Amino acid sequence: MGTAHLTVDLAALADNWRALDALSGADCATGAVVKADAYGLGIAPVARALWEAGARRFFIAVAEEGAALRAALPEAEILLFSGHMAGDADAIAAADMVPLLNSIEQLTRHFETLGDHPFGIQLDTGMNRLGLEPAEWAAARDLVLAQRPRLVMSHLACADDPEDAMNGRQLAVFHEMTDGIEVPRSLAATGGIGLGPEYHFDLTRPGIGLYGGLPFAEARPVVALSAPVVQVREVAAGETVGYGASWIADEDARIATVSAGYADGLIRAMGNEAVLFHGATPCPLVGRVSMDLLTVDVSHLPDIPDRLDILGPEQGIDDLATAAGTIGYEILTSLGGRYHRDYR
Ligand SMILES: *Cc1c(COP(=O)(O)O)cnc(C)c1O
Repeated sequence: MGTAHLTVDLAALADNWRALDALSGADCATGAVVKADAYGLGIAPVARALWEAGARRFFIAVAEEGAALRAALPEAEILLFSGHMAGDADAIAAADMVPLLNSIEQLTRHFETLGDHPFGIQLDTGMNRLGLEPAEWAAARDLVLAQRPRLVMSHLACADDPEDAMNGRQLAVFHEMTDGIEVPRSLAATGGIGLGPEYHFDLTRPGIGLYGGLPFAEARPVVALSAPVVQVREVAAGETVGYGASWIADEDARIATVSAGYADGLIRAMGNEAVLFHGATPCPLVGRVSMDLLTVDVSHLPDIPDRLDILGPEQGIDDLATAAGTIGYEILTSLGGRYHRDYR
């Protein structure tokens, strides 16, 4: 088989949800963020496994993601981070989504086009990305609360760093904006769960931690990725490998050409930086990443393996991300559509 194999461990995913649910505490429900095709892993199988584990509230980014999720989970509550955007009324109604309204313009649009349809509210407590600002909320609050929103939420900008003073500032603003209301509240994603119970409110919204990524350090790994070796060649000292001749053999070397490349989400920044693995033995990725191929130094291996591991027990998404100068979120959501996918 010519393509790389991506294995998604649905049991590990479910364990991660249960662990984050336990950390969220007995008085707090735990949702699941499945935007961007469940961080690249496939929204239908991932959402079904999370439902089986006990998740009932699912968050997506844009209305276009709702139909596939509704088809997979007829009974789930589906909440929409982008709120109610122009032209989305039919999609919101058809997939029965709960838009998290984030501006006066969206409030107006929602009440005009889908008056009786459930909604939630997104507040800006300092991230300056989405949500009503304190003054807007103060003006709209009584009117909005009379319409009984399902949820009032905000998002933390620096929750991956517990020491960051921004966390406490946003928490204080969230309290100022919402204390005394009778609507369920949500502030914490994966990072916020780790900040402690005062950040949890009524519902947490983990994403990356479910999929095995930091800042949930105790997460079980969920993805494994291996790619077949297409060809092996001997390269003499002084010869170069790949586009731009960016790697030069300083002694005779054996180079394996592996079937996966930047079209599969293995970004060019990995070139001459990342390693692949044969069992526990690291094998450096040498030369640039091509669209469909990687070149790997296997000179030190006694035998030439059929496949090399890109993600697995020796290298998780955050390890690979570090080698490529990015974060686990970007590694996952870049994973390509060309992989042969196995769900376990
Ligand atoms: C993506 C997102 C989440 C999930 O964040 P993780 O860091 O992946 O846990 C939660 N809330 C909002 C508003 C988001 O955009």
